[in-house]
Amino acid sequence: MISVAEALDKLFALARPLETETVPLAQGHGRVLAAPLAARLTQPPFSASAMDGYAICEEDACPEIQLRVIGEAAAGHRFEGTVARGNAVRIFTGAPIPAGASRVIIQEDVVRDGDMITLGDTLDKGPHIRPAGADFAEGTPFHAPKRLTPADIALLAAMNLAELPVIRRPRVAIMSTGDELVMPGETPGPDQIIVSNSFGLAALLSDLGAEPRLLPIARDNHDSLRTAFSLIEDADLVLTIGGASVGDHDLVGNVAADLGMERSFYKIAMRPGKPLMAGRLATGAMMIGLPGNPVSAMVCGHVFVTPVIRALQGLPPAPATEATAALAAPVAANGPREHYMRARIENGQITAFNRQDSALLSVLAAANGLLIRPPNDPAREAGETVRYISL
Ligand code: AMP
Ligand code: MG
Repeated sequence: MISVAEALDKLFALARPLETETVPLAQGHGRVLAAPLAARLTQPPFSASAMDGYAICEEDACPEIQLRVIGEAAAGHRFEGTVARGNAVRIFTGAPIPAGASRVIIQEDVVRDGDMITLGDTLDKGPHIRPAGADFAEGTPFHAPKRLTPADIALLAAMNLAELPVIRRPRVAIMSTGDELVMPGETPGPDQIIVSNSFGLAALLSDLGAEPRLLPIARDNHDSLRTAFSLIEDADLVLTIGGASVGDHDLVGNVAADLGMERSFYKIAMRPGKPLMAGRLATGAMMIGLPGNPVSAMVCGHVFVTPVIRALQGLPPAPATEATAALAAPVAANGPREHYMRARIENGQITAFNRQDSALLSVLAAANGLLIRPPNDPAREAGETVRYISL
């Protein structure tokens, strides 16, 4: 058995970044930018008013002074003249600051009477002017690789970048295996259960910007598994679920090997998730064989599949993001396998659930983190700092 870190290294060795495609800006959210970009213009392109008020010369910003209004500037409509001492231009947020003006007096500090304004008896500091280029200048770089957030999309739009080079979505085929499984919505027979974790994994993959596809459920025999493998088409990654322990009905590894899978590793010193398997199929696709227990499959999804998808998207190889919290209650000593305990983090304190059976999806759904116990970690007291992965 290898460690979680060793398994991740072997997975990263298999995960080659995918090709680049160009998408419209509006489709860029959640995608990974593949190449650095540069702003195509300066923002703001001109000095602009930050408030509604009056543009004047800084020297005239004296309490109770009277000034003559000589025109108006609104967003999209500049005032073409020049502001001299004694003048003011009515101005609105986003309008270019007129030549000669160096200060905006907010309208709340002004009393207007016809063409004349009188400034109030106390004035704020101002100047309420956004200098040209305050946000970014033409040529300002936008770095890659980066998964694009809503704020990134707004910034790239402002930079006038209407099309984006992104890594294409990883295509992931998901294969559940088992004679006992039926689809949600069907009526299970007396010995049957509903297939669940393939749907959870598909949801996880969609969140990561991948394209999941559910294959028909493969039954626990060679023919059915072969048929399911024949349907992976151009998948970049094949996730099998179940059939990977050493029981008589656990045929996934055998059938994959018959079909030319080059095995990278099998079995990890981890709880839950020991019977994890990985390799490369004859089609060139990566394969990760996940354990069947619903929670094991989902935990392996967070610990292994998520970092693999990120690597396929050209992001630097890295384990799932970790954070730390103080234990709210003591935990017992851990055994020789790294343990990912379902836990709740509240107000910076973490509590592991009492029930850690890897079949309990209700516990996983109630958890918002996985408490990481290193192999052979001794018992820990309340208050000690531990690592966790957010769910
Ligand atoms: P296996 O690894 O095939 O022995 O499966 C371990 C346990 O997980 C068994 O109780 C299976 O019924 C269950 N299981 C396997 N695959 C799935 C699945 N896709 N959805 C829900 N439960 C599953
Ligand atoms: Mg099975």
